[in-house]
Amino acid sequence: MVEVKLENIVKTFGETVALKGIDLHIKHGELFTLLGPSGCGKSTTLRIIAGLDFPDSGRIFFDDQEVTYLSSSERGAVLVFQNYALWPHMTVYDNIAYGLKIKKLPKEEIDRKVKWALQLVKLEGFEDRYPTQLSGGQQQRVAIARAIVVEPKLLLLDEPLSNLDAKLRLEMRSEIRRIQRELGITVLYVTHDQEEAMAISDRIAVMNVGTVEQVGTPKEIYEKPKTEFVASFMGKTNVIPAKVVERQGDKVTVEFEHFRLEGLTYTDKSDKVVIVIRPERISLKPLENAVKLEGKVDLIEYYGFFIEVVGMFGETRIIARTINDKDVMGLKPQGPVTFYINRDDILVLPKQL
Ligand code: ATP
Repeated sequence: MVEVKLENIVKTFGETVALKGIDLHIKHGELFTLLGPSGCGKSTTLRIIAGLDFPDSGRIFFDDQEVTYLSSSERGAVLVFQNYALWPHMTVYDNIAYGLKIKKLPKEEIDRKVKWALQLVKLEGFEDRYPTQLSGGQQQRVAIARAIVVEPKLLLLDEPLSNLDAKLRLEMRSEIRRIQRELGITVLYVTHDQEEAMAISDRIAVMNVGTVEQVGTPKEIYEKPKTEFVASFMGKTNVIPAKVVERQGDKVTVEFEHFRLEGLTYTDKSDKVVIVIRPERISLKPLENAVKLEGKVDLIEYYGFFIEVVGMFGETRIIARTINDKDVMGLKPQGPVTFYINRDDILVLPKQL
């Protein structure tokens, strides 16, 4: 287990500034995820931590040791690439044993460790198969076994589930979580899939064009996004451009179209804002002391275990979500609808995008 610290890491490729001074602190035994859209610098960060690439400036520490310019093998980290390239001419057993043979461990010890790793990824009995005789998910598990058998201080996983179908992805992400907990290793995980990040992580760093926008637990990131980018990246949400028209201490009144929302909390200087409201926080039933928005139904969409009501408030679309069929009884397209929202569930953030 290792703790990883990045201090002000800058990395450029020609004209492209891939990382613009990143600070991160990944704790012992944590499953930490870098989440962000394509090209935001996730893989570059991972490669720099792995020692496969070096920063232009800034420092990297593994516990108290500076490793900024140490090679990959000197750091003892392991990287599982996106395409989990197993050696096709080697059996499952030999693929997993490879790293231990390089370390010149005694044969019995190699055998014991390979069996332990196979058991951990639930692939006992598959020792003699070749990669082509395995399913995608099984290959993935062999790749993970091969990585953990050498007992890395740090496991780096770059989109490890991207080649799998939806069902296997779900299975494997629980597997990775289980293995990480059992071994107590520090894992740095890279994905652009916010749902995967939420499900698997202890903490998430949301990245955007070479910067870290926010670090927090999945709950913090989802419920208390600090920027418009983070709010809009974390699943379906209502992000409504608005402006501050009145201030009293940390309370403000904001306006969009002809709607006025009073008594919201906001302290930033900028008057150009967005109002962020999660669909599931909007009630179709009256709530006391709540903000009340009167509009028209645009659409009612059934998703099985929940229903979404898309309302039009002037030109602004706002989505409400409910799990209760009764809430939508009496609503019809083009008919009137009222949305009720507790003030605590309305975030006001500076306009950014
Ligand atoms: P993805 O999810 O698509 O893998 P990412 O978030 O991992 O994206 P990076 O691969 O870290 O993003 O890339 C960050 C930026 O740096 C991008 O603009 C990319 O084009 C650029 N970049 C990365 N590697 C190189 C390289 N070897 N040469 C030139 N530009 C590079």
